[in-house]
Amino acid sequence: MTAPTPTPEPDYNPMQQAVLDALGKSPDWVPLPRSVVDTVRTRITDELADVAGRYTPDKALWVSKQKLNTVHGCEAQHMAARDTFEWNPNIAKGTVLHKAVELGVHWRGDTVPADIVDEAIARLADSNHNIADYLAALSEGDRAQLRSYVVDMYTRFEECFPRLKPAWRPVTESAARYEMFGGAIVLGTRSDLTLGTADQKVIIDVKSGGLHASHREDLRFYALVEALRSGMAPRRLATYSLAAARADVEEVSEGVLQAAVRRVVDGIRTIVALELDGREPTKRPAAHCRWCPLNTSCAEGIAFLSRDIDDDY
Ligand code: SF4
Repeated sequence: MTAPTPTPEPDYNPMQQAVLDALGKSPDWVPLPRSVVDTVRTRITDELADVAGRYTPDKALWVSKQKLNTVHGCEAQHMAARDTFEWNPNIAKGTVLHKAVELGVHWRGDTVPADIVDEAIARLADSNHNIADYLAALSEGDRAQLRSYVVDMYTRFEECFPRLKPAWRPVTESAARYEMFGGAIVLGTRSDLTLGTADQKVIIDVKSGGLHASHREDLRFYALVEALRSGMAPRRLATYSLAAARADVEEVSEGVLQAAVRRVVDGIRTIVALELDGREPTKRPAAHCRWCPLNTSCAEGIAFLSRDIDDDY
């Protein structure tokens, strides 16, 4: 009897192969015991029990990665930016890119980046997503600029990522939440891309720019929420920079989940102090000053932004 002809493996370019190597499961990988998730759940519940009564399901505290980033970044910016949100080209680019990735992952047949991006813009503009009004009001020039940028980024995504197989269970824009204290405190996430089954999930954030330390904190928060809601820790976390064609990868360990608990608890306690108890916010000038609504009136921010560029080197 002749042996069956093996199915040829697709040829991956070096960037795609690096993604496969970074996300693949090593043969000796074992999942974190579920008792670890129970321990983490008990700890975060115990450490927030005394502030949980400050919120109710009707007036819940919603905790997102953005909220944690601002409150751990500059408290004054956190207070100025809360409850206000304005679309700008930077945020819009990311939203359209993520929509394009979502469509591209599920697109049947060959893809043409410009077509995928046009479809992404059209679907967002015709949706009840709150970017719709922003897109509708864009001038023709701004729309062309947005399209040009996202086509560039989406093309890089296709160059860097292997075509995702259905068997890898790719899910894009995956929302997860964990409700605590009957819904008084809600931890919420939306992952760009997840791969794998619930007991060995890989959570991936796709960035158009470079890699920063805060990206690891974002994904640790995602891992915590996923573990708490499912009772199973994800396997691995990866931030992928399209600009650098490189992934920052971290295995999910008990230490990773405990670090996320510490950051969430500290963040929530700071939010309570600032938003409910009226503590004076501190200012921490840094790169985030560029996007701060106070950056034309805050002396510290103005000083930071007016530094000689050579100060950064
Ligand atoms: S400009 Fe900078 S230092 Fe000032 S409030 Fe904004 S982020 Fe903070």
